[in-house]
Amino acid sequence: MSDKRIPRVELPEGIHLDTLAVREGLPASAWGENSEALFLTSSFRQPDAATAAARFANEEEAFIYSRFTNPTVMMFERRLAALEGAQACIATSSGMSAILLLGMGLLKAGDHVVCSQSVFGSTIMLFGREFAKFGVETTFVSQTDVAQWQQAVRPNTKLLFAESPTNPLTEVCDIAALSAIAKKAGAWLAVDNCFCSPALQRPIEYGADLVIHSGTKYLDGQGRVIAGAICASEALVNEKFVPVMRSAGMSLSPFNAWVVLKGLETLGIRMEAQSRRALELARWLEAQPQVERVYYPGLESHPQHALAMAQQSGSGGAVVSFVVRGQAEGGAPEARRRAFHVIDQTRVCSITANLGDTKTTITHPASTSHGRLTEEQRQAAGITQGMIRVAVGLDDVRDLQADLLRGLATL
Ligand SMILES: *Cc1c(COP(=O)(O)O)cnc(C)c1O
Repeated sequence: MSDKRIPRVELPEGIHLDTLAVREGLPASAWGENSEALFLTSSFRQPDAATAAARFANEEEAFIYSRFTNPTVMMFERRLAALEGAQACIATSSGMSAILLLGMGLLKAGDHVVCSQSVFGSTIMLFGREFAKFGVETTFVSQTDVAQWQQAVRPNTKLLFAESPTNPLTEVCDIAALSAIAKKAGAWLAVDNCFCSPALQRPIEYGADLVIHSGTKYLDGQGRVIAGAICASEALVNEKFVPVMRSAGMSLSPFNAWVVLKGLETLGIRMEAQSRRALELARWLEAQPQVERVYYPGLESHPQHALAMAQQSGSGGAVVSFVVRGQAEGGAPEARRRAFHVIDQTRVCSITANLGDTKTTITHPASTSHGRLTEEQRQAAGITQGMIRVAVGLDDVRDLQADLLRGLATL
C-alpha cells in the first residue's frame, strides 16, 4: 500500500478491547457526528484527474468505488480487525463469500486443502464440490484428532481450514496444534470464528493466519443482515484478497456494514450474557430424563472441556445441542419424530436455522442445515435424527426451560 493512508481514529496508547469495540473505525466527518455515519454511495468524487489516476494506481489510499471499499465498510473492517488482534480485515457480502474469497485469493489448480469434516455444511460443499471444479483437492479429517490433520498434509497442501466450536456438535479443535502443523507444512491456517466471536476466542493469538467470520451471526447479533469478513495480516489482505475483491466483487453493502458495525459495540456484553444463559440451560438439559446427551463445551462432560475453557476465555459460547431419547426404541424415524415434537411444542424459541440472535433459535440440524449432506456424510459428522440445536439468545432461561419442557414432558 501507499504512504498516503486514510487517517485513523485518535485514541490513547494501550486502549482495551471493550473501548475499541465502540471507538475504532474512521475519524468523524466534517459534521462531527458521534454515531458512525452510513455512507450510501456507490462512488466517490475525485478532486482532479491526476489524483484520480494516483488513487486508481494504489499510490494513494482513498475511496474510489464501493465495490473496492467504502467508509462505512472500512469502519467495520478496522473495528473487527482490532477485536481479532489482526493487522487488517476485508469485509464480504456473506460468511460464505468470505470463504469463497479465501479460496480464490490463496489457492490455484493443483493445490490441496485439509479441512475439518465437521465444518458448516455450505463450507463442506464449497471445498468438496465447487473448488474441486477448479482443480483444488480437499481432504476432510476429524475435527479433534490432530494426528489425522498431520497425516493428511501433502507437499502441495496450501491451506488448513477449521472451525471451533463446530455446529451443531460443538466439537473443539486445538488451534495451536493445527497452527504448528500448518507452519511446518508451509501452509496457512484459517479458522472460522463464527461461534465464539472475538469476544471469547482470538484464533490469531493461537497461531491462526486467517480468521473467517459470518457477520450474520454474533457480530450483528440481532438477526438483521447477511455479512462476512476475513481478518489477516496486512500483506495477505492487500496482496491476496483486495485484488480479487476488485475483480470479483463479493463486497459488503454499506448498509449491512453499518448494521454490523453497530452490532460490534454490544458484542462483548451479549456474548457474556448469552453464554451464561447457555450454560444454565445446558446444565438443566443434562438433568432431564428424556435427554440422552447434551453437547456444550462449558459442561464438564464435554470431551474437550479443558481445551475449550482455555481457548475460549473460560466460556462455552451460546450454542447448546442435545439428543432426545428415542433412537434405541424406534430407530432414526422415531428419534426424528420426537425431536420434531419437542421443536413444535415451543412457543418462545424461534424455529429457524439462524444463530447468534438475541432471540433464542431452535432447529433440527439433520433435516435443515445438514439436510443437503448424504446420510454417510451426516453419520461421519455425528448428526443424528434425535438432535436439536438451541442457539441461546437473551430470553430468560426460565422461559426457555418451560418451552422445552412442554415437548419433553409429553414425548
Ligand atoms: C452461518 C455460517 C457461515 C456462513 O455465513 P453466511 O453469512 O450465512 O454466509 C459460515 N460458517 C459458520 C460457522 C456459520 O455458522
